[in-house]
Amino acid sequence: MSTALSSQATIDLFKEYVIPNYGRYPVNLARGEGSWVWDSEGDKYLDLFPGWGCNLLGHCPPRVVQAVQEQVATLIHVPNTWHMEAQGQWAKMLSDRSFGGQAFFCNSGTEANEAAIKLARLHSSPRYKIITFQGGFHGRTLGALSATAQPKYHQGIGPICAGFSYAPFGDLEAVRGLIDDETCAILVEPVQGEGGVRIPSQEFLAGLRELADQHGLLLMFDEVQTGCGRTGQWFAHQHFDVTPDVMTLAKAVCGGVAGGAMLAKREIAPSLRPGMHAATFGGNPLAARAGIATLETIEEDDLLSHCRQLSELFRERLEALQQELDLIREVRVLGVMIGIELAVEGAPIVAQCLEQKLLANCTQSTVIRLLPAMNLPFDEAEQGLQILADVLRRQQAA
Ligand SMILES: *Cc1c(COP(=O)(O)O)cnc(C)c1O
Repeated sequence: MSTALSSQATIDLFKEYVIPNYGRYPVNLARGEGSWVWDSEGDKYLDLFPGWGCNLLGHCPPRVVQAVQEQVATLIHVPNTWHMEAQGQWAKMLSDRSFGGQAFFCNSGTEANEAAIKLARLHSSPRYKIITFQGGFHGRTLGALSATAQPKYHQGIGPICAGFSYAPFGDLEAVRGLIDDETCAILVEPVQGEGGVRIPSQEFLAGLRELADQHGLLLMFDEVQTGCGRTGQWFAHQHFDVTPDVMTLAKAVCGGVAGGAMLAKREIAPSLRPGMHAATFGGNPLAARAGIATLETIEEDDLLSHCRQLSELFRERLEALQQELDLIREVRVLGVMIGIELAVEGAPIVAQCLEQKLLANCTQSTVIRLLPAMNLPFDEAEQGLQILADVLRRQQAA
């Protein structure tokens, strides 16, 4: 394939042939390495939001690249009617680092949550209702979308799936009030990502565990964004010392390659019985090798520890900036999951960062969200923080 098109020529292709369901910046990214990406004109950007949270090891992490290169020339895909070593090894590695459950593999976060929703219903039939949380995000397919308590994403879609009810995030009494004889599960992000990096109290998650145990419900954690080291632990629930019955993973789970997984406790997992669920590409050899290489990279490079140090750096710098600027309402940091709540719209800030060649994100209108790579070097973190600080200072002065 030729890669000689100008940015404008590529943008024109999109205008003509790609469905415009995404807001896209007028930049054509061509290459990436670590926390840097280059566009097709050769301009270089510092990426503090690499791959929308998927590139937790930065762009093109070498062990993942090598594993995929080897595997793609050996066996690309075989169906799940066969065994394959890499999928088995990957399942064991995820199980060993979480709560010892069994894995079902798929290709995305929404699919992992669909599997969790079906498992909960199958496990508890005829109970079928699931409680989820306002501001949560679980994906775009109809089941996961119905679990996503954000009305803006339901508009114009027509009837969503029955059986979901929504509680305010952090409100245990509201959850208790929603539980009835037909409730089978609670599905929650241990830290809400798209909802603005909302970090709950330990008491809230422990309280959910208690309610689930009292009422025979499955406690299901959507760790699609928080999982795989993002928060400085393998999985966010380990920060809160609360173990779910089911956990969903995607985004960073394959180091930037597409992949997803659902882990379920051993006594629950068999409820997803043969014939009741499947994903054609789930756990394919490429994804499995990438998944294994991701976990190995985190371990061999001691990245959980680096992530916690990075976290402190971001927290210190951003809290100091908050003291300086009224513009910043709140700073929320867990690992390298970072939310900066502003008193103004965040989109213009992100646009100005882009002009300064820094990539960031805005969610919930007023929250600047950074999901930097967990192997971001400290000096690059300082560089990015400097650009962001300058943009915010200019905004405050304006
Ligand atoms: C991104 C995300 C999803 C959806 O993942 P896709 O791979 O886009 O389907 C689900 N849950 C959470 C918490 C997410 O951040």
